[in-house]
Amino acid sequence: MELFQDPIALSIIGSDDHVLYGCHCDKLKPITKLYYCRHCTKLRCAKCVTHEVDSFYCPNCLENMPSTEAKIKKNRCANCFDCPSCGHSLSVRATAVSVGGNPLDESPKTNVKKMHYLNCGFCRWTTRDVGLADQATPSGGWAEPELPFTKKMSSLLEYYKQLAQQDKAEKARQKITSRRRSNMLIMDRYGYTLSLGKKSGSISSPNTSILGKTNSASGKEIQAPTIVTTIEQDVEQLPDSFYTEPLCLEEVLTLDQRLKNPALSATKTKELHPKHKHLKVRRSQRCKRCEHNLCKPEFNPSSIKFKIQLVGMQYCPLLQIAKSGNFSQGESTQVVLSLSNPLDSAINVTFMPLNVDDKLNRTQTSDIELPTDTITIAAKDATVEFDGIGSSSMSEQFDDDPKVIHARSSNKVSFYANVIPNKESGKVVAAFTLNYSYKLITAPLIMKVEESLDSEKKKEENIVSLSFPVQVKLGEINATLC
Ligand SMILES: [Zn+2]
Ligand SMILES: [Zn+2]
Ligand SMILES: [Zn+2]
Ligand SMILES: [Zn+2]
Repeated sequence: MELFQDPIALSIIGSDDHVLYGCHCDKLKPITKLYYCRHCTKLRCAKCVTHEVDSFYCPNCLENMPSTEAKIKKNRCANCFDCPSCGHSLSVRATAVSVGGNPLDESPKTNVKKMHYLNCGFCRWTTRDVGLADQATPSGGWAEPELPFTKKMSSLLEYYKQLAQQDKAEKARQKITSRRRSNMLIMDRYGYTLSLGKKSGSISSPNTSILGKTNSASGKEIQAPTIVTTIEQDVEQLPDSFYTEPLCLEEVLTLDQRLKNPALSATKTKELHPKHKHLKVRRSQRCKRCEHNLCKPEFNPSSIKFKIQLVGMQYCPLLQIAKSGNFSQGESTQVVLSLSNPLDSAINVTFMPLNVDDKLNRTQTSDIELPTDTITIAAKDATVEFDGIGSSSMSEQFDDDPKVIHARSSNKVSFYANVIPNKESGKVVAAFTLNYSYKLITAPLIMKVEESLDSEKKKEENIVSLSFPVQVKLGEINATLC
């Protein structure tokens, strides 16, 4: 599910589809969803990077967990629970309960004990609703419900464990014999593949009543557990009460509630049980081509900082539609586009038409005339915003042509473009290639280490240039404005 689905929110964070940037693999993505590999100097989409799991953590208590522990705990937190009714996190409530003595005796000496129960702050479901006894400690020790398939599942797991062990032993044996006696190699190989075939047959049908027997190297036979048996008799008819008694909806679970905990197979609200919270993972991304890290968060789950964060937004000029117009077929309409520079150094931007064989050509529904000259955009400077330098002084500084440049302020330039739709109706889609170059001020990573040590000058003058296709959706052709 997308984090934001509201179009206004998407537009604010730059994740809407009005301006899309082309990844090296021809996929079009908003700039917020692209990584930038400064080692390959290419944009990379989520499919062009490898995703690695860094750590497991509970999203509620933020406890970190090594992968082996997470596996043992079935990727769930031991201390946090979700509401089985609505899915909200459950919180612990403390209450005073009188213990011992006669409850009718109203003497002030009755022992009062602090007890705890789980409560949902959203739907008011509590563990008391299903008759679970209160716990003395806040962390709980909540009894796990006995699941109907636990025994069958553990027998299946045991069976697969044995199969894996046998497989391993077989492989090791084969290695030794093939090393010692080369003439035995062919026989062993055939024997092994044959037993493998049998194994795969038994693995693929564990839920049938057929007993898969495999011949192991040691002569032992591993028997597959029987999970499902065929029922010969007819399925029982529904009891009459289904038709005669009125249905109480508050007592029956919804399909969503039932599917949230399929292992429990509960059908009534009284059978619900708090559910251990699912763990989440912290991921880091790596470029598939050069294997450098593009994004690596801090290990601590409570930190929102990154150790490495190379994203498109920080390295590519951000193109936005400042002013659109009314479009009609064959008529030239002036629009205003803007470019922002996220870098600490000035950038030079030029626009080029797409290559003839570019796939994006097919999606275009209009021709776009963009400035032919190079547009220089000043470096990003956080302090400028507070200085109050007007846009006019910036324009004078850069000697802008007022026919091309609409306005200029700190690291943002807006410019004119003419759009001629070549379709009668539909969306106005234009595409072009955006080229830009900037001086890499820090030690260049794309140069070899020896080179950078040799000449200090080279370090300063290293110019990085990039080019990628951009698709802009400017509006509708013949849209009626009310
Ligand atoms: Zn890609
Ligand atoms: Zn937790
Ligand atoms: Zn709830
Ligand atoms: Zn790379």
